Amino acid sequence: MEIPKFIKIANLPTKIEKLERLSKELGKNIYIKRDDQTGSEVSGNKIRKLEFAVKEAIDNNSDYLITCGGIQSNHARATAAVAAKLGMGSYLVLRGKEDNEIEGNLFLDKILGANIKFVTPEEYKNHRKEIMENIKLELGKKGHRAYIIPEGASNGIGSFGYYKAMEEILKQEEELGIKFDAIAMAVGSGGTYAGLYYGNYINENLAKIYGINVCDNSEFFKNRVLELLEEMSQYTNVKIPVNKENINIIDGYVGLGYALSQKEEIEFIQSLAKLEGIVLDPVYTGKAMYGLVEEIKKGNFKEHNNILFIHTGGLFGWSGEQIGLVK
Ligand SMILES: *Cc1c(COP(=O)(O)O)cnc(C)c1O
Repeated sequence: MEIPKFIKIANLPTKIEKLERLSKELGKNIYIKRDDQTGSEVSGNKIRKLEFAVKEAIDNNSDYLITCGGIQSNHARATAAVAAKLGMGSYLVLRGKEDNEIEGNLFLDKILGANIKFVTPEEYKNHRKEIMENIKLELGKKGHRAYIIPEGASNGIGSFGYYKAMEEILKQEEELGIKFDAIAMAVGSGGTYAGLYYGNYINENLAKIYGINVCDNSEFFKNRVLELLEEMSQYTNVKIPVNKENINIIDGYVGLGYALSQKEEIEFIQSLAKLEGIVLDPVYTGKAMYGLVEEIKKGNFKEHNNILFIHTGGLFGWSGEQIGLVK
């Protein structure tokens, strides 16, 4: 099967490490794939998706990347970094206010030279596509050709980043002499999940793919993943038989809401950091790993012994609010 072309920017393959002490505590073999180490400025899962999306932009002769996200969007920061790396311009539509303290990803966006338009949550929810289209038109008047990347680079083309990551995992399994029977990750816009699912199926691998949603709910993401799988198949002409029941999205760990943290999540991140020397982020991986550990403790992963968690990055997303909860 042929997949779309991509550019090479991420530091790949990323390491897979065993969490020895957590494994002992839970009576399972827990591994972590360090996609937080795909790079520095570009770190996290979004760069894998951008390798495909930006290739399409370049083939389109674009000289500007436009995208959107929350004020602390890891995806927006990775896009700004890739644009600068390739000598392109970037324009970010961010949900939030300029007068918030400039830290983390927003700080990096600025250092990386991104143009930023701040919008209200209402404008973001209902009009972000139009807003990005308008920016594209305005840039066009100035002689630029812009390429719009949707939230999280979660569309058909972007999701191939995790199709390719699945093939990377299969190769690493051989090298390490391990077979993962479950692969789990945070779900925020669905592209990471969709790519892994597609790769797992096409390669006739039998791992079960689990997503833990950090916003919306499982129904929303089951539908979203099905749409993304459909979009991916338009690039390959290979449709896979899949329905909602095949998509495993574990709900119940959104907590107070997207990017809002509560004490037990922060305490969990801190205790895992002390136990294993690995720091998760508060918005995605902290909630997802917390959820995974809770589910294992409840006995919901009885059928699995070798579990791989994808550390999708996000450390720049730590900001004052959450840091304030750290003991
Ligand atoms: C975007 C993001 C995710 C979620 O990935 P999706 O493909 O959007 O579902 C997980 N972790 C981090 C750190 C992210 O930035």
